[in-house]
Amino acid sequence: SNIVAIVGRPNVGKSTLFNRFLERREAIVDATAGVTRDRHYGKSDWNGVEFTVIDTGGYEVNTEDVFQEEITKQVELAVDEATSIIFMLNVEEGLTDTDQEIYELLRRSNKPVYIVVNKADSAKEELAATEFYQLGIEKYYTMSSATGSGTGELLDDIVKDFPTTEYKDPFEGLPKITIAGRPNVGKSTLTNALLDAERNIVTDVAGTTRDSIQTLYNKFGYEFVLVDTAGMRRKAKVKEDLEFYSVMRSIRSIEYSDVVIIMVDATLGWESQDMNIFGLAQKNRKGIVIVVNKWDLVEKETNTTRDFEARIKEKIGQFTDIPILFVSALTKQRILKTVEVAMEVYQNRAKKIKTSKLNEIMLPIFEKTPPPALKGKYVKIKYCVQLPTPSPQFVFFCNLPQYVKEAYKRFAENQLRKEFGFTGVPIEVYFRQK
Ligand code: GDP
Repeated sequence: SNIVAIVGRPNVGKSTLFNRFLERREAIVDATAGVTRDRHYGKSDWNGVEFTVIDTGGYEVNTEDVFQEEITKQVELAVDEATSIIFMLNVEEGLTDTDQEIYELLRRSNKPVYIVVNKADSAKEELAATEFYQLGIEKYYTMSSATGSGTGELLDDIVKDFPTTEYKDPFEGLPKITIAGRPNVGKSTLTNALLDAERNIVTDVAGTTRDSIQTLYNKFGYEFVLVDTAGMRRKAKVKEDLEFYSVMRSIRSIEYSDVVIIMVDATLGWESQDMNIFGLAQKNRKGIVIVVNKWDLVEKETNTTRDFEARIKEKIGQFTDIPILFVSALTKQRILKTVEVAMEVYQNRAKKIKTSKLNEIMLPIFEKTPPPALKGKYVKIKYCVQLPTPSPQFVFFCNLPQYVKEAYKRFAENQLRKEFGFTGVPIEVYFRQK
């Protein structure tokens, strides 16, 4: 998807613009809280075109000595990750040397750069902004937080410049699996263990998406693509960087994948960041497998596995029909099982139930256990279909959909799971009037 990064010196107003983009929209960062201090990623759209916004400012350190280095890092990051870059300037402070340096870096990136001059609140300031032409630019956009003006034209241009040629996925139709998890849980170890198992039938295809590598596996009787294994091999210099990259990569890899293997460290247990990844996968309706790694380090007693599993299920709540495996990437214990289960979940997600079969099984169930009557009115479910969507979604047609409560939707979902087998897959259930 398209990514718009906002860069600029501290306090020029990056987060103001970022928040304006996100107005009315839910921030993805809810899903990554705990990793980042604030909201720094979000989804936005303009005239129906969706894009992700990054506010790089969240990663800046405001002390003089690291200042220059931080800015450079921030800019490199934007150049690396973004489709389009917004460079923010502030008319109150005028054009500084740092601005010139930043612009030089951006210019060399060959990505579209949009200059936004902030705090142009009056005619006097509008005039002062002309100073920025010294950068050798053709055009800038002015923005005023005071009047709230200025983002429409900018967004028109950004969206218009998004690459229009649809990216062709060379692995179209193949199962895509991503291993997600906190740093050091053992993602690379598992990836490499799978690679080592049969090195000769693994292909690295570089540049298949903008900057990640997908690895095609044709082994264990399966053909599948492991997503973004390169991102995990790449080690960042400082902690902030590592977190930033891993969050960004997680989001992107999850969006591209069919199945997300959420890897948890057995010695640490299920933590809030694991919950965030889980939420992200669930929200994107991806298949989910939970893999508890480093199981070799755990002292086992009779109920160790069962208790661990119970604790995870307690945390993840409603949707608990998810495989949980206990593995050791290091000793290669159950790593093939992991692939096998991930492929099963993939099949479950792709599963399409014939309408005739669906009605034949589900209607008698609803007949037997109908939604509770409300104010003397009875809900009658007449017909159901599965939508042709990538993940399972079902529509139940009935006379009074507004009377069907959440609990009954859960019931319908659980019956679907029981009858047809959707382990590891989020299901969507809708009640509609015919
Ligand atoms: P990543 O950051 O998620 O890719 O984690 P790594 O694969 O780099 O692993 C981090 C550390 O945990 C390394 O020192 C690994 O050797 C170790 N590790 C990974 N998997 C296991 C495992 O199953 N058991 C044990 N004991 N150590 C492991």
